[in-house]
Amino acid sequence: MKPETACLHAVRDHSHLTGAVAAPIYQSATFAHPALGQSTGYDYSRLQNPTREHTEKLVAALEGGADALAFSSGMAAIACLMELFGPGDEILATDDLYGGSIRLFDRVSKKNGVIIRYADTSDVTAVAAALTDRTRGVFIETPTNPMMRVTDLRGVKDLLAGRDTLLLVDNTFLTPYFCRPIVCGADAVIHSGTKYLAGHNDTLAGFLVPADAALAERLRFLQKTTGAVLAPFDAFLVTRGIKTLALRMEASQRNALVIAAWLREQPKVTRVYYTGLPDHPAYELSRRQGTGFGAMISFSVDTEETARRILEQTELILFAESLGGVETLITYPATQTHADVPEEARAARGIDGRLLRLSVGIEAAADLIADLGRAMA
Ligand SMILES: *Cc1c(COP(=O)(O)O)cnc(C)c1O
Repeated sequence: MKPETACLHAVRDHSHLTGAVAAPIYQSATFAHPALGQSTGYDYSRLQNPTREHTEKLVAALEGGADALAFSSGMAAIACLMELFGPGDEILATDDLYGGSIRLFDRVSKKNGVIIRYADTSDVTAVAAALTDRTRGVFIETPTNPMMRVTDLRGVKDLLAGRDTLLLVDNTFLTPYFCRPIVCGADAVIHSGTKYLAGHNDTLAGFLVPADAALAERLRFLQKTTGAVLAPFDAFLVTRGIKTLALRMEASQRNALVIAAWLREQPKVTRVYYTGLPDHPAYELSRRQGTGFGAMISFSVDTEETARRILEQTELILFAESLGGVETLITYPATQTHADVPEEARAARGIDGRLLRLSVGIEAAADLIADLGRAMA
């Protein structure tokens, strides 16, 4: 089944006999038992709920995982994942990571005795140099947020051969429509389902997608114990969003290609970071590792003043955190997504007051360009 078809038909819920085409919302906290020692398969919605299960099976099918676990947010998913690790365990993470993940790692995981190290994972030799005997997980975001660096997943997987180290990949930016990290050797895929999977800037969700059944079982235990599961109505919204994932990803990417090329020609734009530009250092790798580049663009402008003016003057494009929805959003990484990253660390990564990030949506590219052009004039 092709991905476009799988988004709609990968999971058929035959347990209900009504013929409902849309998977129903089971808004029930608990489920009655037929008799002592018997269960319908559903006992209590923290453990499992039919609506959530439908969404989970769909995400597992799209990513090619053994299972998928749905959480109330992306951060809830990552927090649960980190419960796999204990005092003395080391996690090696991409240095240019989503700000919320850095905050979790540095302020919560560290307190639990987990040692977090950062490296530029787009450089496989840097990963090799940073691995130690105690590295239990390599946590990768690709492309990175906001600098759009791409990690060679198969290259990193090769380094982990014979080690007791999980390859963990946050696939929020590309989604399984453009990249399937498990095919490249990932042991688990992470999503902020809030972004492209749900796709409409209207719900929070998160996913963990383990590649094998043994890891799935460990994560299921942690999820039912810590409890940040996705609510039935929100699961319904994610399932509905995924029905149009292919269309949305194609439309957003088409716009992103046009806008990145246009940005480049603007006198006030000093640099454009988009993996779909043929001279981006990771253009070829992105093509080998997936089927698309996504629709996230970062760009630098001549002065901080210009950056501020763009944020204030765009009308169609909303100045808001988040990404991956049908509406185009612009963010200011220095004070929004990366506000909790120390200024020195931000500067080292090029995240300064002249950097802006666009999550390109599905409006007409001409309208988006007109809006940006007006704001930049
Ligand atoms: C948004 C985001 C998260 C966190 O997800 P929430 O749903 O906001 O909790 C994690 N990783 C990436 C790459 C994100 O963009």
